[in-house]
Amino acid sequence: MTVHFHEEDLPEGVLAPGPIAVDTETMGLITPRDRLCVVQISDGKGDEHLVRFNPGSDYAAPNLKAVLADPERIKIYHFGRFDIAAIQHYLGVVAAPVYCTKIASKLVRTYTDRHGLKELVRELLGQDISKQQQSSDWGGPVLSEAQKDYAASDVRFLHQLKAELDKRLTREGRMELAQACFDFLPHRAALDLAGWPENDIFSHM
Ligand code: MN
Repeated sequence: MTVHFHEEDLPEGVLAPGPIAVDTETMGLITPRDRLCVVQISDGKGDEHLVRFNPGSDYAAPNLKAVLADPERIKIYHFGRFDIAAIQHYLGVVAAPVYCTKIASKLVRTYTDRHGLKELVRELLGQDISKQQQSSDWGGPVLSEAQKDYAASDVRFLHQLKAELDKRLTREGRMELAQACFDFLPHRAALDLAGWPENDIFSHM
């Protein structure tokens, strides 16, 4: 299990075929203001790849974009709505088709309102991940080892979570509903970017 660190793009051919786990770290929660600093990717085989972008980056990253936009590869996220918007805004690609472990969790773990990644990994996989570096400065010239570890751990368990959540979605008969939600997610992200971040356009009000 190795964490690979790259600047400005993913090297070509480092990922096995199949679904990839994707996460992003940014300067904050307001996508157009808070620049994309790191994209993390895992092919589920045990290694994680971190791609860091410098201030003023042109976000060219042709290899990374090709992987993210590849229609043959499912992108597994936890709260993909945010990552898809950041990737769309800064890299200019729609990183789909989508699977989101947070949405899947909400559709099957109706006995709790705790759908954070740490809680999911703990309950479904019996593992512990630290969220200590979540609100750290991802824009500095050097990422600390703790930051790299944290960033990598955010994609490390997503394939395993998907496998567990898929079993439960099937068991509860909610796979089709989940798929419809996943398919809508890039549009939900587009609404966020277009100026409807918090308004629920489906609500009566
Ligand atoms: Mn993260």
